[in-house]
Amino acid sequence: FDVHSIPIRRGHGHSKGLVVIFHDITRLKKLEKVRKDFVANVSHELRTPVTSLKGFAETLLEDSQISDEDREKFLTIILKESDRLQLLIQDLLELSKIEDEHFQLNKEAVDVARIAQETIELLKETARKKEISVQFNTSGTTVASGDSARLKQMFVNIINNAIAYSPEKSHISVEVAEEGNAVIFRTTDTGIGIVKEEIPRIFERFYRVDRARSRNSGGTGLGLAIVKHLTEAHNGRIEVESEQGVGTTFSIYLNKYVQKE
Ligand code: ADP
Repeated sequence: FDVHSIPIRRGHGHSKGLVVIFHDITRLKKLEKVRKDFVANVSHELRTPVTSLKGFAETLLEDSQISDEDREKFLTIILKESDRLQLLIQDLLELSKIEDEHFQLNKEAVDVARIAQETIELLKETARKKEISVQFNTSGTTVASGDSARLKQMFVNIINNAIAYSPEKSHISVEVAEEGNAVIFRTTDTGIGIVKEEIPRIFERFYRVDRARSRNSGGTGLGLAIVKHLTEAHNGRIEVESEQGVGTTFSIYLNKYVQKE
């Protein structure tokens, strides 16, 4: 608590009493900690690829005897790390834009099934590399009130994760269905799964269940934080069901489009 006290005086006389004000600053302290942790995380995430870029560039410059094979290997690493940095900066900018109080969606009537199909098409090559098949099903009226570009961004992140955390030659199913007043977008994978205790944390910025694995999968650690924000901006909700070693299901509930009279 932050405590302020103000004496009550009448004229020049003695103090008649005291007004004591208690401010609950636990929330402020918590926010301050979240901000500090975030800055520390960003710094760490940026430093790792930069250190690697610097190291390999220095080696290439200093070692004149380097074999063609090694040169190519180092340049490939430099390119990969630059890509990672670019992606990270892009996601950071995206998150800060979405978190801005003036952020607004371009809401309209959107066919969620169409967006889901376009997303699958977009990620076809990523899935093909792991020989993963993506099955798509739709039922009912799937028109929701939403921002098509933002919905696609959410679906890309969710399906990308399903691919990243699944073994080669596995199957992913994507479903868009009408349920009551909602349009549901649902993905089911048969990947590594998430232990129960970790599930509430995966939407935190930079939180990863397995750091090394996520790094290898090429993620930035911000994907689900972005999805959560955008889902909330749509007044929707997201549910996760998962079992370690069995697989994961993400369901995003969006509001069905209702025509204005
Ligand atoms: P990342 O870039 O690390 O994938 P995300 O914010 O997209 O970051 O996801 C956070 C973490 O949640 C991941 O690092 C991973 O541990 C876990 N995760 C997300 N999707 C899945 C999934 N489909 N299967 C298993 N784990 C997942």
